[in-house]
Amino acid sequence: VSTSMPEDVQMKIIQSLPGLENATVMRPAYAIEYDCINPTQLKLSLEIKGTEGLFFAGQINGSSGYEEAAAQGLIAGINAAMKLQNREPLILDRSQAYIGVLIDDLVTKGTNEPYRMMTSRAEYRLYLRQDNADLRLTPTGHEIGLVSSERYNRFVEKVKLIESEVQRLKSTIIPPSEIINNFLVSHGSTKIVSGIKLYELLKRPEIEYTFLNEIGQGANLSKEIIEQVSISIKYEGYLKRQMNQIDQFKRMEERRLPEDIDYTEIRGLSLEARQKLNSTKPHSLGQASRISGVSPADISVLLVYLESRKRKN
Ligand SMILES: Cc1cc2nc3c(=O)[nH]c(=O)nc-3n(C[C@H](O)[C@H](O)[C@H](O)COP(=O)(O)OP(=O)(O)OC[C@H]3O[C@@H](n4cnc5c(N)ncnc54)[C@H](O)[C@@H]3O)c2cc1C
Repeated sequence: VSTSMPEDVQMKIIQSLPGLENATVMRPAYAIEYDCINPTQLKLSLEIKGTEGLFFAGQINGSSGYEEAAAQGLIAGINAAMKLQNREPLILDRSQAYIGVLIDDLVTKGTNEPYRMMTSRAEYRLYLRQDNADLRLTPTGHEIGLVSSERYNRFVEKVKLIESEVQRLKSTIIPPSEIINNFLVSHGSTKIVSGIKLYELLKRPEIEYTFLNEIGQGANLSKEIIEQVSISIKYEGYLKRQMNQIDQFKRMEERRLPEDIDYTEIRGLSLEARQKLNSTKPHSLGQASRISGVSPADISVLLVYLESRKRKN
């Protein structure tokens, strides 16, 4: 029985079942309870609003799980160090990392039950992949001083290799021949009647990069470079669509909302939006739009407000 009821209640439940009147229990069920703060009191940097220099991470913020705790610990630690160095906090957004989704969800929406980082919570799952974690985050790591120059240079080399290989595949055209068509048929693909770019061949689902070696068209590259080249070509259409969505998202995230705004003074905002915005103090227009109770109409009002504030300054 899965329950967190007291032991005597568990006994009563079990013995109330017909046939189990005399049952005994070897080990009662149990559940873990723990206290947490309201994570909407935090900034996206994981510093608590109102007490400078105090950062929170882990299940005290309403999450549950090892990775959830470690991810927040990393960001809180980085930002405590950034604060001491008078540098801007590191905020990963929802399109950069699952860490961004986790922290944004907790801080913007709060949580009524232990928050677990399920992949379904992320909008940009096609981009947030394990295989491209270094492409997404190494430049940021280097910028804040956590990725050594040696590692960064290796990363830059990797990016160059990926780009130049994609370029080579785009510019290499192979003419139709018996060898090529036999090769295609042997992999369950259709023959060609005119020249075709290697890049177009790779777009065919049945043609893997490694098959190109059979026709002397592969390059001597590591497995991870080949993986990135293949993914970027085979899923190009889907990835482009996702990157467009991310661009739109970024535009809203880049519209910063200064911390000193008093939302009660902005005419046109609903009462609920004023209260929620004042207590959350969102970092950006994007974050504001994810607060429950802040409507698209409120966001339009904020846009107008930001423009007039910019003109005044
Ligand atoms: C039985 C069980 C099974 C679990 N299984 C899984 C699992 O399979 N997978 C998974 O991802 N998660 C699992 N979890 C959840 C996961 O363990 C926690 O969510 C995670 O470890 C929380 O990490 P944390 O660093 O936030 O907190 P904690 O690991 O609780 O760390 C808090 C630390 O603060 C210390 N502390 C408290 N008060 C003070 C004080 N006043 N002064 C100094 N130190 C203090 C505590 O001693 C503790 O070491 C499980 C949890 C339990 C209880």
